[in-house]
Formats: sequence, C-alpha cells, structure tokens
Amino acid sequence: MSARPVFVVTGPSGAGKGTLIKGLLERVAGIEVAISATTRSQRPGEVHGREYWFLSDDEFTRRVDGGEFLEWVSYVSGRRYGTLRSEIERIADDGKVCVLELELDGALVVQGEVPGSVTIFIAADVPELERRLRDRATESTGEIGERIELARTQLEQAHLFRYMVRNDDLERATAALAAIVECEIALAGTMSRP
Ligand code: 5GP
Repeated sequence: MSARPVFVVTGPSGAGKGTLIKGLLERVAGIEVAISATTRSQRPGEVHGREYWFLSDDEFTRRVDGGEFLEWVSYVSGRRYGTLRSEIERIADDGKVCVLELELDGALVVQGEVPGSVTIFIAADVPELERRLRDRATESTGEIGERIELARTQLEQAHLFRYMVRNDDLERATAALAAIVECEIALAGTMSRP
C-alpha cells in the first residue's frame, strides 16, 4: 500500500496560493490544510488556530528546541514560520490528505524529507504580484518592496518543483490545481513514488 501524498503549495508572496487552496478545498473532498506557526503579528480578521498559530518569539524558539517543527524559516522582516509535525500527523490520523502552504525554502525541505510529497509552484508575473500585494494592503510599503524583490528571485526557481501552475486566470488555475491533486491521489493508490 502506498502512503497518501502530502501536497505542498509554494510560490512567491501575492501569487494567490491561499485563494487557490480555498478553491481546491471546494472542489476536492478529504483535504485539510495544516496550520503553520508564525511569529508575525495577526492581521485584522485572522484567528489564532485558523490562519496560523500566532506564537511569541520565545514560544517559537521553545518549539524549535523541542524538535516540534518539520521545517521552519525566517522570512521577510525576520518573522519566523514553521510546519508543526503534529499538524501533519493529526491530518493523517483523521484519514485526510494534507496540504501545506509554504514559501520556497520550506517547500524544498519538505520535498527532500517527506516521501510522497508533491510540490506545486504557483507563479504570477511581477507586476501582477505587486498589484495583489498593494490591493491586499496588509504589509507596509517597505515590506511589499522586500516581498517583491524576493519574488523576482523565487520565480526563477519554479523548475525545482514537480508542478507549476500559472495563476493568470483564477478559474483556470484552480481547476489545474484540483486536477493535479486528484491525479496524484489516484496515482498514489496505484504506484510507488520515485
Ligand atoms: P504571510 O505572512 O503572507 O501569511 O506568509 C508569508 C509566507 O510564508 C507565504 O509565502 C507563506 O506561504 C509562507 N509560510 C506560511 N507558513 C509557513 C510555514 O510553516 N513554513 C514555511 N516555510 N513557510 C510558510
């Protein structure tokens, strides 16, 4: 019997990873998104334990030291984000397929360490990324600039991942993501992963 795949959705900030995952959950049953831990501050409307586990720096460090993270990174402005092993186990124990939404370095770690992980890079062109980040208006102008600079480098790394979905048309990109996920779930049932 082969393991259920773990899906990793990655790509630059503003590419629309969150929106595409929301669409994926509406289209494909039996999927759950792991909730990451972060030290960044809560945005208006975000709920502790829904979008993220919002942790203090000390609490995050305690969990790093305790080996609780599968991976963690320090992202723009030194904020830390990490995938809790307990989230992946909880989702698997519930008999569901786990989806992780991660920046690139974390996605590469999971790709290297989790057998059966399937990475999907979400791409959008730079002016579009910039427009989305400005419309979202959740970061300061300085931080938007920092995220855009990082995005330019990240877009050149798309080839490191198993799939790439271009998010220039939301309907189409959501359908493509759902098709990849359904196909890989079906494949995992019939063949072992390289
Ligand atoms: P945001 O601050 O916009 O919520 O997230 C910033 C970036 O961190 C996004 O690219 C998001 O995918 C990524 N991210 C969220 N959680 C994690 C995590 O647990 N690990 C890693 N490596 N990246 C994460």
